[in-house]
Amino acid sequence: MSTQVPEIISERPQPPIALATLKTGQQGHYWIVRRCPHCGKRHVHGGGRLGSDPRTFLGHRNSHCINRSPLSSAGYVLVESASKVQR
Ligand SMILES: [Zn+2]
Repeated sequence: MSTQVPEIISERPQPPIALATLKTGQQGHYWIVRRCPHCGKRHVHGGGRLGSDPRTFLGHRNSHCINRSPLSSAGYVLVESASKVQR
């Protein structure tokens, strides 16, 4: 009899992607997550000082969810949103 070995599923959930939009203020850059994949709320992440490359701040970040869950503790991966912000 043949037994199928199931693929080993990682116990840690893969962090989802969070689309972020770059905003630049007087103090520096910010990444705005308009809709958190965990809680659906808006989060703001720092993007470094003016003159530095804010894209180095993309990638895996801890989520800023108020209501923490085992999933949200995995954080998310910040990805620059393709759509431009309307000014
Ligand atoms: Zn959240």
